[in-house]
Amino acid sequence: MKPETVAIHAGNFYKTSTNDVTLPINLSTTFLRDEDGGYSGGHMYSRVSNPNRTALEKALTELEKGAGACAFSSGNTAGMALFQALKPGSHIIAPDDMYWGFKKQLQTIFKDTLAFDFIDLTRVDEIAAHIKENTVLIWAETPSNPLLKITDIAAISRLSKKHGLLFACDSTFASPCLQNPIALGADIVMHSSTKYIGGHSDVLGGILVTAALNEFWDKVKNIQETGGAVPSPFDCFLLIRSIKTLPYRMRGHCTNGMALALFLEKHPAVEKVFYPGLSTHPQHEIAKSQMSDFGGMLSILVKGGAEEARKVVNSVQLFAQATSLGGVESLIEHRASIEGPTTKTPPNLIRISAGLEHIDDLIADLEQALS
Ligand SMILES: *Cc1c(COP(=O)(O)O)cnc(C)c1O
Repeated sequence: MKPETVAIHAGNFYKTSTNDVTLPINLSTTFLRDEDGGYSGGHMYSRVSNPNRTALEKALTELEKGAGACAFSSGNTAGMALFQALKPGSHIIAPDDMYWGFKKQLQTIFKDTLAFDFIDLTRVDEIAAHIKENTVLIWAETPSNPLLKITDIAAISRLSKKHGLLFACDSTFASPCLQNPIALGADIVMHSSTKYIGGHSDVLGGILVTAALNEFWDKVKNIQETGGAVPSPFDCFLLIRSIKTLPYRMRGHCTNGMALALFLEKHPAVEKVFYPGLSTHPQHEIAKSQMSDFGGMLSILVKGGAEEARKVVNSVQLFAQATSLGGVESLIEHRASIEGPTTKTPPNLIRISAGLEHIDDLIADLEQALS
């Protein structure tokens, strides 16, 4: 079935004793045992599994065309579970503009146990040159943050298969509706469900979806169940509720993202626009081939420096000046000041998450803020 249908029905498969049309929130932490000691209800203890989480994992497995999924309490814990599943001494190839929370995990939590190189993944020859004897994982993020770089998922998948490596892709900016990395050869897809999947800036969560049920996935599943960084039944309920409208929300985010990119590209106060839907974007052709649309995230360089950029984010009325992305409300953010003094992000860069307000109102707000 098509994503619109899957999104509405995949998380709603339980038949309850009260014949509910939508899956209710099940807060029970423990479940009754049968006389023979078994669990015919399918659940034993809610850290290991519970009906709402199982439903969420099933919905995301189907949307990402995978074989199984693990839901976590945040995007960060989802990514961390994957790093924890690697043997100590393993080497990872990660993007130079990797989501800063993951870069921080590698550089602080895993600095003594894992080795890693941060490289420009838009250059497949660069990746090949960095593969070592102990390399086990290529981690990609596409579109990337905040420069909206596009990584060729099929090309990296071919390379990782050739070298027997695991290939994981952070697909948060695309959501499961705009690209399916598993269909292009990735082994694992990661999402921060805090973003588009949740879509209303009110629930924190993360997800890993696997292409195959194998030994490595068993390790990840064990880290989820035994480590216990799991979302609550209420979080899972909210995410299932949000997923039902995800395909339609994504259409609005993409339409508004494209319209803002075209408006900003022509604006005299703007030096540059980063949006994969623009034909001037360096990886526009790859984006066209692996994404069904280009998303609601864009970045701009304001003419001038940090001061001019900060003036713009302080002058908007409708956009909320806040970090994060993927919600129904439009957000705007001066990235360098959140990433700290060591960042390579240009000082005049502003990141925009196009929400679902009317495009005329969004353009009018940016127009007044830029003048
Ligand atoms: C937000 C984000 C994460 C981390 O997710 P949290 O839910 O904040 O822990 C990871 N990757 C990308 C691309 C993100 O935008």
